[in-house]
Amino acid sequence: MIGKKSYISSFTSSDTERRKQMREEALARREPKPEVTVANVKKYVTAEMSLQLYGAVPDKVYEQRKAECMGCEHRFKSNEIEDEIGFCRACGCGVTSRARLTIKLTMPESTCPKEKWKPSHGRHATLRDRVKSWLLKRIIG
Ligand code: SF4
Repeated sequence: MIGKKSYISSFTSSDTERRKQMREEALARREPKPEVTVANVKKYVTAEMSLQLYGAVPDKVYEQRKAECMGCEHRFKSNEIEDEIGFCRACGCGVTSRARLTIKLTMPESTCPKEKWKPSHGRHATLRDRVKSWLLKRIIG
Protein backbone atom coordinates (compact mmCIF):
# COMPACT_ATOMS: atom_id res chain seq x y z
CA MET A 1 0.00 0.00 0.00
CA ILE A 2 1.26 3.45 -0.90
CA GLY A 3 1.25 6.15 1.80
CA LYS A 4 -0.19 9.65 1.26
CA LYS A 5 3.22 11.30 1.51
CA SER A 6 4.92 8.98 -0.96
CA TYR A 7 1.88 9.18 -3.29
CA ILE A 8 2.18 12.99 -3.43
CA SER A 9 5.93 12.91 -3.80
CA SER A 10 5.59 10.41 -6.67
CA PHE A 11 4.37 13.33 -8.87
CA THR A 12 7.35 14.87 -10.59
CA SER A 13 7.52 18.42 -11.84
CA SER A 14 7.21 17.06 -15.38
CA ASP A 15 3.81 15.49 -14.42
CA THR A 16 2.67 18.87 -13.12
CA GLU A 17 3.85 20.56 -16.30
CA ARG A 18 2.09 17.97 -18.46
CA ARG A 19 -1.19 18.40 -16.54
CA LYS A 20 -0.91 22.18 -16.82
CA GLN A 21 -0.33 21.91 -20.57
CA MET A 22 -3.30 19.53 -20.97
CA ARG A 23 -5.52 21.96 -19.04
CA GLU A 24 -4.42 24.86 -21.26
CA GLU A 25 -5.02 22.82 -24.42
CA ALA A 26 -8.52 21.89 -23.21
CA LEU A 27 -9.30 25.57 -22.52
CA ALA A 28 -8.04 26.59 -25.96
CA ARG A 29 -10.26 23.97 -27.59
CA ARG A 30 -13.37 25.13 -25.72
CA GLU A 31 -15.69 26.98 -28.04
CA PRO A 32 -16.34 30.59 -27.04
CA LYS A 33 -19.78 31.69 -25.91
CA PRO A 34 -21.25 34.94 -27.27
CA GLU A 35 -20.36 37.98 -25.18
CA VAL A 36 -23.63 39.87 -24.60
CA THR A 37 -22.58 43.49 -24.19
CA VAL A 38 -24.34 46.63 -25.45
CA ALA A 39 -21.46 47.29 -27.86
CA ASN A 40 -21.61 43.73 -29.26
CA VAL A 41 -25.40 43.82 -29.69
CA LYS A 42 -25.13 47.20 -31.47
CA LYS A 43 -22.38 45.86 -33.79
CA TYR A 44 -24.43 42.75 -34.55
CA VAL A 45 -27.66 44.66 -35.33
CA THR A 46 -25.78 47.17 -37.51
CA ALA A 47 -24.11 44.36 -39.49
CA GLU A 48 -27.36 42.43 -39.98
CA MET A 49 -29.25 45.57 -41.01
CA SER A 50 -26.56 46.52 -43.52
CA LEU A 51 -27.01 43.15 -45.19
CA GLN A 52 -30.75 43.75 -45.50
CA LEU A 53 -30.38 47.38 -46.64
CA TYR A 54 -27.42 47.22 -48.99
CA GLY A 55 -27.18 43.55 -49.94
CA ALA A 56 -24.10 41.36 -49.61
CA VAL A 57 -20.65 42.78 -50.31
CA PRO A 58 -19.32 42.32 -53.86
CA ASP A 59 -17.52 39.01 -54.57
CA LYS A 60 -14.12 40.71 -54.71
CA VAL A 61 -14.54 42.17 -51.21
CA TYR A 62 -15.80 38.81 -49.90
CA GLU A 63 -12.76 37.00 -51.33
CA GLN A 64 -10.36 39.56 -49.81
CA ARG A 65 -12.01 39.21 -46.40
CA LYS A 66 -11.99 35.42 -46.69
CA ALA A 67 -8.27 35.36 -47.55
CA GLU A 68 -7.52 37.38 -44.40
CA CYS A 69 -9.60 35.09 -42.21
CA MET A 70 -8.16 31.89 -43.71
CA GLY A 71 -4.66 32.95 -42.69
CA CYS A 72 -5.68 34.32 -39.29
CA GLU A 73 -4.69 32.74 -35.96
CA HIS A 74 -8.08 33.68 -34.46
CA ARG A 75 -10.07 31.56 -36.91
CA PHE A 76 -11.23 28.14 -35.71
CA LYS A 77 -13.51 25.32 -36.82
CA SER A 78 -16.39 24.36 -34.55
CA ASN A 79 -17.49 20.87 -33.56
CA GLU A 80 -21.06 22.15 -33.12
CA ILE A 81 -21.75 24.03 -36.38
CA GLU A 82 -20.04 23.37 -39.68
CA ASP A 83 -18.81 26.21 -41.82
CA GLU A 84 -16.46 26.31 -44.79
CA ILE A 85 -14.38 29.11 -43.24
CA GLY A 86 -15.19 28.65 -39.55
CA PHE A 87 -15.60 31.16 -36.74
CA CYS A 88 -13.69 34.06 -35.23
CA ARG A 89 -12.44 33.67 -31.67
CA ALA A 90 -11.61 37.36 -31.31
CA CYS A 91 -14.97 38.99 -32.13
CA GLY A 92 -17.09 37.74 -29.20
CA CYS A 93 -19.87 36.41 -31.45
CA GLY A 94 -19.42 32.84 -30.20
CA VAL A 95 -20.60 29.83 -32.19
CA THR A 96 -24.02 30.57 -33.67
CA SER A 97 -25.38 30.08 -37.17
CA ARG A 98 -25.25 33.84 -37.86
CA ALA A 99 -21.66 34.08 -36.59
CA ARG A 100 -20.37 31.72 -39.28
CA LEU A 101 -17.67 33.56 -41.18
CA THR A 102 -19.29 32.62 -44.52
CA ILE A 103 -22.26 34.75 -43.32
CA LYS A 104 -20.40 37.44 -41.38
CA LEU A 105 -18.08 38.23 -44.30
CA THR A 106 -21.04 39.02 -46.58
CA MET A 107 -22.33 41.79 -44.27
CA PRO A 108 -21.24 45.24 -45.47
CA GLU A 109 -21.00 46.80 -41.99
CA SER A 110 -19.45 43.87 -40.17
CA THR A 111 -15.96 44.48 -38.84
CA CYS A 112 -12.84 42.50 -38.07
CA PRO A 113 -11.92 42.89 -34.37
CA LYS A 114 -8.23 42.87 -35.35
CA GLU A 115 -8.79 45.38 -38.19
CA LYS A 116 -7.53 42.99 -40.86
CA TRP A 117 -10.46 44.04 -43.06
CA LYS A 118 -12.88 46.95 -42.97
CA PRO A 119 -16.59 47.69 -43.53
CA SER A 120 -17.53 47.92 -47.18
CA HIS A 121 -20.42 48.89 -49.40
CA GLY A 122 -23.01 46.32 -50.45
CA ARG A 123 -24.03 45.27 -53.94
CA HIS A 124 -27.06 47.54 -53.79
CA ALA A 125 -25.38 50.80 -52.96
CA THR A 126 -27.97 53.19 -54.41
CA LEU A 127 -31.62 53.58 -53.43
CA ARG A 128 -32.62 52.54 -56.96
CA ASP A 129 -30.62 49.30 -56.65
CA ARG A 130 -32.20 48.59 -53.28
CA VAL A 131 -35.72 49.14 -54.57
CA LYS A 132 -34.98 46.90 -57.58
CA SER A 133 -33.56 44.21 -55.32
CA TRP A 134 -36.53 44.47 -52.93
CA LEU A 135 -39.02 44.20 -55.81
CA LEU A 136 -37.19 41.27 -57.38
CA LYS A 137 -37.18 39.42 -54.06
CA ARG A 138 -40.94 39.94 -53.70
CA ILE A 139 -41.69 38.94 -57.31
CA ILE A 140 -39.23 36.07 -57.79
CA GLY A 141 -38.95 35.05 -54.18
S1 SF4 B 1 -12.62 38.40 -38.46
FE1 SF4 B 1 -10.51 39.21 -38.28
S2 SF4 B 1 -9.74 38.42 -36.32
FE2 SF4 B 1 -11.55 37.20 -36.89
S3 SF4 B 1 -10.74 35.41 -37.99
FE3 SF4 B 1 -11.24 36.98 -39.53
S4 SF4 B 1 -9.32 38.12 -39.85
FE4 SF4 B 1 -9.12 36.98 -37.91
